[in-house]
Amino acid sequence: MLETGFRTLNLDAAVLRALEEMGFEEPSPIQAEAIPPLLEGKDLIGQAQTGTGKTAAFAIPVLQRLSPDATRPQALVLAPTRELALQVAEEFAKMGKYLRVRELALYGGSPIDRQIRALRAGVQVVIGTPGRVMDHIERGTLKLDQIKSFVLDEADEMLDMGFIEDIEMIMSHLPPERQTVCFSATMPEAIARLTQRYMRDPVRISIARQELFAPQIEQAYFEIRERDRVEALSRILDHEAVSRGIIFCRTKRGCDEVASALQARGYLAEAIHGDLNQAQRNRVLSRFKEGQLELLVATDVAARGLDVENVTHVINFDIAQAPESHVHRIGRTGRAGKEGTAFTLIHPREFRYLKFIEKATKSQIPRRNVPTPSDVAERALELLGQSIGTAVARGAGRDARFSDLAARLLDEHDPQQLVAALLSSVADPKGTAVGTAVGTAEAGRRRPTGPADAYDFPETGAEKGYVRLFMNLGSRHRVRPADFVRTIAQEADIPGGLIGAIDIHENFTFVEVPRDVGTTVLDAMKNASIQGRSVHAEPAKPAH
Ligand code: AMP
Repeated sequence: MLETGFRTLNLDAAVLRALEEMGFEEPSPIQAEAIPPLLEGKDLIGQAQTGTGKTAAFAIPVLQRLSPDATRPQALVLAPTRELALQVAEEFAKMGKYLRVRELALYGGSPIDRQIRALRAGVQVVIGTPGRVMDHIERGTLKLDQIKSFVLDEADEMLDMGFIEDIEMIMSHLPPERQTVCFSATMPEAIARLTQRYMRDPVRISIARQELFAPQIEQAYFEIRERDRVEALSRILDHEAVSRGIIFCRTKRGCDEVASALQARGYLAEAIHGDLNQAQRNRVLSRFKEGQLELLVATDVAARGLDVENVTHVINFDIAQAPESHVHRIGRTGRAGKEGTAFTLIHPREFRYLKFIEKATKSQIPRRNVPTPSDVAERALELLGQSIGTAVARGAGRDARFSDLAARLLDEHDPQQLVAALLSSVADPKGTAVGTAVGTAEAGRRRPTGPADAYDFPETGAEKGYVRLFMNLGSRHRVRPADFVRTIAQEADIPGGLIGAIDIHENFTFVEVPRDVGTTVLDAMKNASIQGRSVHAEPAKPAH
């Protein structure tokens, strides 16, 4: 339950229920500041970028101010791009789920007739790009006389894209008694002028008011594509050999999903968030403290007041919603003079916000490339070498049984060849998998794979060294990435960590696996089932 945060904001039960379902634990700083004045109907200028929760900051109050029976649009949001318009529409749909709100995204490139039909059928919230919205106004297909709330989202980007005149034209069609909201990352002169002309006594908010000092620990960011987030995370975890890390996610649901995807790939990971009761929370924490868990997957709320030492890595799976929380998160590592590292996964859309965090914290966050499968493989060998070195230093193998055999083998074989043969029996053919012989946590996860396959795959459009497989189950069958990882790992007896990008569509899924286990996986899937359904797998066609 939402015991804090959103409950204090006077929200409708229907909105609270949707937020709970989305896994939001508490309002982000921009939401906490923007929602109350917006609910009162005030105008507002917010300085905030993607990643701060700005969309919900205006969507929640806009939704709550709608009258349920009106059929003409009551809220209009202008956004610079089709992607953003769709993203905002989706956020409205999720948050308005129990208010039965109808929203519509209007953007160029989509058939105008369909948009006209949808408008005629009645929508309450319109989210559009300025060009297409103008088009509908001119055609008389979009009526703005009942607009109560008007939002400019990413105003500076719309300005940069040359939309300022369209925006002014659109504003001249709005009823004077309306709420005007403007979100922008920066405040260029032209936007400031626009707000002065069209806004009444606006409330101004911005998320960085105090000076912040980032702790002196190593930081880096990795640019990722949305669907590769988990894959990138697991490669980073392997490459860095993270043994005690905290992974931050935005929502409770996100934590659960990431934790189970990691578990399926063989990591010792557990989620920790506000839905756990005290006993569950304590159990997870003590397992982490005792080293039985490698990774905690936490929300900001859950991590608050967390008393854990020796955290080697903090990984922001989702970027923090305010510079303050970024600083707070990364301060969980590198304590008491120990070394610590903080990584942030960044979608290109959030890039501006990363720069803003750098500025607010007066620190530079360098970029690193997500390790490739061969980087990971190389590193696995390096780690294997290190752990053997440690084992030797600890006196492992002094037992007479082993040392006698060793003496005999050394007599019979070339020493280099002998050691190489031993290594290859604990590492898989590509060196990505380290067998259990060495006895580290890493080793337990990486089981050796079967022999390399002979099957010659056609070009399937996969990443280098991988083949893309088509599987006939998708989101409508309620399958999740973890289901594929678990099933493939079990049936084909390969380490889950070897499985690459998983791209779930409605009716089917593409799964990338290393080329040399492609046939093994295809064969193994013949008898497999996921969520009680049998799976059909075949090499993907490159056209996909
Ligand atoms: P935005 O800054 O609006 O682009 O939002 C970035 C992401 O944060 C979106 O995926 C939102 O669904 C998510 N988000 C927004 N508010 C919250 C919140 N209070 N708690 C968790 N996630 C949030």
